[in-house]
Amino acid sequence: MEISKKNKFVEFLKNYWIYLTVAVVILVVAITVGVLAGGQSVPTTTPNLEFSLPMNEATIVKDYSSTELQENQTLNQWEAHLSVDFASDNADVFSVLDGTVSDVSYDILNGYTVEITHAGGFVSQYASLAEEPEVAKGDQVLSGQKIGTAGNSASFESYLDNHLHFTLLLDDKAVDPNNYLDLQNK
Ligand SMILES: [Zn+2]
Repeated sequence: MEISKKNKFVEFLKNYWIYLTVAVVILVVAITVGVLAGGQSVPTTTPNLEFSLPMNEATIVKDYSSTELQENQTLNQWEAHLSVDFASDNADVFSVLDGTVSDVSYDILNGYTVEITHAGGFVSQYASLAEEPEVAKGDQVLSGQKIGTAGNSASFESYLDNHLHFTLLLDDKAVDPNNYLDLQNK
């Protein structure tokens, strides 16, 4: 009885020793990697999440509102405005954060638009720009870097004249830029 049991165990080892060895090696490697990764702080570059303003000396000509409807005199309708409109004598438009230009586009409603993708799930969109924004898709930009000029290319807001239609997205949802940018105290 005892002998037959022992034989079975020896048989088992003979057949499967290679798998056992591999399993032990994987376990040891996994534990080593885990200890190293957990025990040391891996140096990472902290992204700059300090927002700067998209325009200098700007006036808010239309603020963000998600619930209160505002009149759109071009479309002659009342609507939510999930963006902030800026106008300024200085028409330069700047990136609000470090990031990568993820899109430069034109359509009749929004006009010339630059989209910049940032760290932390933020995306900023600059619509109603003048023709030929100064950046191209794939460009790396810094916070405060000029990306274009405010214009009147967004036909859905043409009654506002030259302005920047600025939208801030967090995880694909429009958020109130007032919660991130110091817009009211300039
Ligand atoms: Zn607008």
